[in-house]
Amino acid sequence: MSYVDKIISIIEKGDVGQSEFIQAAKEVLESLRIIVDKDSVYEKAGLLERLVEPERALIFRVPWTDDSGKVQVNRGFRVQFNSAIGPYKGGLRFHPSVNLSIIKFLGFEQIFKNSLTGLPMGGGKGGSDFDPKGKSDNEVMRFCQSFMTELYRHIGPDTDVPAGDIGVGGREIGFMYGQYKRITNSFTGVLTGKGLGWGGSLARTEATGYGLIYIIDEYLRTKGDGFKGKKIVVSGSGNVAIFAAQKAMELGAAVVSMSDSNGFIYHKNGINLDTIKDIKLINRERLSKYAEIHNDAVYTDVNKGRVWDIPCDIALPCATQNELLLEDAKKLAGSGCKIVGEGANMPTTLDATELLQSKGAAFFPGKAANAGGVATSGLEMCQNSARLSWSFEEVDVKLKNIMAGIFRSMDDAAREFGKEGNFVIGANIAGFKKVAKAMLDQGVI
Ligand code: NDP
Repeated sequence: MSYVDKIISIIEKGDVGQSEFIQAAKEVLESLRIIVDKDSVYEKAGLLERLVEPERALIFRVPWTDDSGKVQVNRGFRVQFNSAIGPYKGGLRFHPSVNLSIIKFLGFEQIFKNSLTGLPMGGGKGGSDFDPKGKSDNEVMRFCQSFMTELYRHIGPDTDVPAGDIGVGGREIGFMYGQYKRITNSFTGVLTGKGLGWGGSLARTEATGYGLIYIIDEYLRTKGDGFKGKKIVVSGSGNVAIFAAQKAMELGAAVVSMSDSNGFIYHKNGINLDTIKDIKLINRERLSKYAEIHNDAVYTDVNKGRVWDIPCDIALPCATQNELLLEDAKKLAGSGCKIVGEGANMPTTLDATELLQSKGAAFFPGKAANAGGVATSGLEMCQNSARLSWSFEEVDVKLKNIMAGIFRSMDDAAREFGKEGNFVIGANIAGFKKVAKAMLDQGVI
């Protein structure tokens, strides 16, 4: 049995029920065959066994009181996966679907993503099955304070620096940061995605979506092409989706469709992003509202159709994991989609990815394509440590350079191993090499 097969069998036996983690780990391990099965140093050092096992996985109770005075209890998680190249870094997700498998999959992906950015950040992820939707600001605050009352002892600016993710935006980061500061009596860069007046970085909000467009733009340039005139479908209408759409439009593309968990809108002449921002970011309403405001737009309920039914040149899945399935990939490829860029983490299933690649689409995996968010979080950490603030333009230029660097690393790695144009393999290998070298250098820990 090959080394990679041995590790796959270990996680399949040892992590029963953790389907998302096994899916993510297998995808990475399959890509690494060409490197680890060739060199016995990895097996001798037990490197893959160590890589798939988190350094630490914390699960804790989060009790809080709702507005009616009733005590509620949620489950909190922080998985500190790998600190070989820097302090653990990765977001917190508040969503009812959160469980250990999802947090482990996200933490595992984060190891390679953070490595690809070129910044010194290890991999981690956390969150809770708490649903901020439908809760009052006071309820969200009490939950965040309780969550941080336990989490604070496990994190720190040189230990573990969480950020936002699904369900955790500026409001939640603010409540958690306030509680951390109160308990520890210290003002440090312990969370990223902070408000601009208290340690946050300009361009962090925009960074993941912008970064997604920058990396695709870098690829298009190599083909003598650009975004101008391209028709784009974006799933999701949250932080990543909105700013990806914004940058794509700035570069001359037409974004015709966006979605939320209830359905999607199709606006033939191009989405009005100001309306989307009002609905989703300010009023926290459902996307169906868009078609009430723009009556030439069509809203389709999630039970009646899929956002991927809309023909496009570029598809950007920016909502959640496993949202672009084999049937969707067939439709996209059939309607002429040539580029798929993952704004979300693991939105495309493995069979869908392979189908798209086999039809000649350029496929940008999330760990490279959405790394702009964590990269800018890394830049926020730099600014916090140096006690200074860079301008929007300074951060944006650094972000662009980082995304161009990621594109080159994954493109070069794919070529080096004879897999030109396969950015999935390229990103996994480029991310892995740096972490593996650090782990080997640091001995058996
Ligand atoms: P948000 O919470 O801001 O937005 C999530 C969006 O996805 C919402 O429109 C939400 O709809 C939609 N959505 C959630 N679940 C589903 C579902 N099951 N089906 C369809 N739509 C769904 O999250 P972000 O934009 O921050 O994150 C989106 C993705 O990007 C996640 O995978 C996240 O891990 C990843 N990511 C985020 C980064 C960041 O900087 N924010 C960085 C790197 C990756 P609704 O309003 O109905 O809930």
